Amino acid sequence: MSHPRSLTEVVRQGLCTGCGLCQSMAGPEHVRLDMTADGFLRPKIRKPLAPADEARILSACPGNRQQPSPEPGTPVDPLWGPIRRLARGQATDEATRFKAASGGVISALASYLLESGEVEAVLHTIADPAQALRSMPQVSRSPQGVMQAAGARYGPAAPLTDIETLLAAGRPFAVVGKPCDIAAVRNLARLDPRVDRLVKYRIAFFCAGVSSLGISRAIIAKYGLAEDQVRLMRYRGHGCPGPTRIEAKDGRVFEQSYDETWGNELAQEIQFRCKICPDATGEQADIACGDAWITADGYAHGEYESWNAVIARSAAGEALLARMEQAHKLNLLPNTIAELNRMQPHQGERKRAILARLAGLWLAGQSRPRYRGLRILHAAWLGRRDFAKNLRGTLLRLRRGANREAEPA
Ligand SMILES: Cc1cc2nc3c(=O)[nH]c(=O)nc-3n(C[C@H](O)[C@H](O)[C@H](O)COP(=O)(O)OP(=O)(O)OC[C@H]3O[C@@H](n4cnc5c(N)ncnc54)[C@H](O)[C@@H]3O)c2cc1C
Ligand code: SF4
Repeated sequence: MSHPRSLTEVVRQGLCTGCGLCQSMAGPEHVRLDMTADGFLRPKIRKPLAPADEARILSACPGNRQQPSPEPGTPVDPLWGPIRRLARGQATDEATRFKAASGGVISALASYLLESGEVEAVLHTIADPAQALRSMPQVSRSPQGVMQAAGARYGPAAPLTDIETLLAAGRPFAVVGKPCDIAAVRNLARLDPRVDRLVKYRIAFFCAGVSSLGISRAIIAKYGLAEDQVRLMRYRGHGCPGPTRIEAKDGRVFEQSYDETWGNELAQEIQFRCKICPDATGEQADIACGDAWITADGYAHGEYESWNAVIARSAAGEALLARMEQAHKLNLLPNTIAELNRMQPHQGERKRAILARLAGLWLAGQSRPRYRGLRILHAAWLGRRDFAKNLRGTLLRLRRGANREAEPA
């Protein structure tokens, strides 16, 4: 087996990122994302798709294809991708910094784009008000809306399930998402000329992977709570990174440190697709942001000053950062690749391991995505000492069926 030939194969072979684009392209009467028993959002085919429609969706699906094309003249780092400007940044507004996941750069960018009229909407992700552990797409049209959605929603989130409505409206907008969400938008742009005309900015955050809803359920279960008893689940924010906070409907409040959440829980059940992700740092975005703390292992073991690592990857992203700096909306300090490596050691580790993991899929006769222009060979050369270990680990995981997924019931 080589590459997936159907949406069902994308799901069954563990390649779906859960972005939701297929629902938007096919329409919810044909394809709808639902939660699987494993706690991930996956498409379910409700009404058969015409072969040409399915082929079109497959060519936009980031589970099947990722293929960046950096702007000519942009310096490209083998591990970190296109970089026009590298900075350490934070929102100048204290309330934004406090509420946001890290330094609030993403929320500041989104708010500025709306205030300045450069876009009329921002498509991003918010907690589902009816089911606090779950997330849903949010279309914000004001900085207030942006701030309601500030923070990181760990677990499944599919921001693109209805991007078609924004495209059909014909008004300029921005998209905030995980690197794979942004890859989906770039793939769609190759098929649909409205995308480049209307999506003015693509903003990504660095991503360590999507955890299962089961992990969030396990966290609340420690406090004796079931999903329908929870009215707020905030994974981080209100500090940097801020605590994980759970508010029960009966008024009880529980907090645990971000260190406890990531160290003991969130990292445990990351979807298989994220283990073979060659772009966890938003190479296809105009601007990508991550955490900027420096610790021995890349994880936060306390509270830190609210700063982001910030990368402008396109000319438009670079110009936007400059405008925001001039408007005193962002503080930006110089940063270096060496510092970035210290801030995010796991990102380089993963990129160096991708070739070995893809080789494992190939040897085991399993489907793998089509990746182009992501410097996987170069990264593997940099990590060649661990190639055999990563290959062996992947083969063992595949033997245990780690990439096998069921569709939603
Ligand atoms: C699944 C996940 C994995 C992450 N992994 C890393 C990592 O490896 N390294 C790292 O440095 N940081 C990681 N983060 C944290 C993220 O990088 C920080 O949020 C980032 O530094 C942006 O900070 P900020 O203060 O600018 O964001 P904010 O101003 O708080 O804005 C965050 C934006 O992201 C959107 N958003 C939140 N959750 C999701 C989601 N699940 N899907 C799509 N959009 C969402 C929100 O709607 C909001 O607009 C992760 C976050 C998530 C949700
Ligand atoms: S990766 Fe996105 S487009 Fe592809 S099958 Fe999954 S949800 Fe659909």
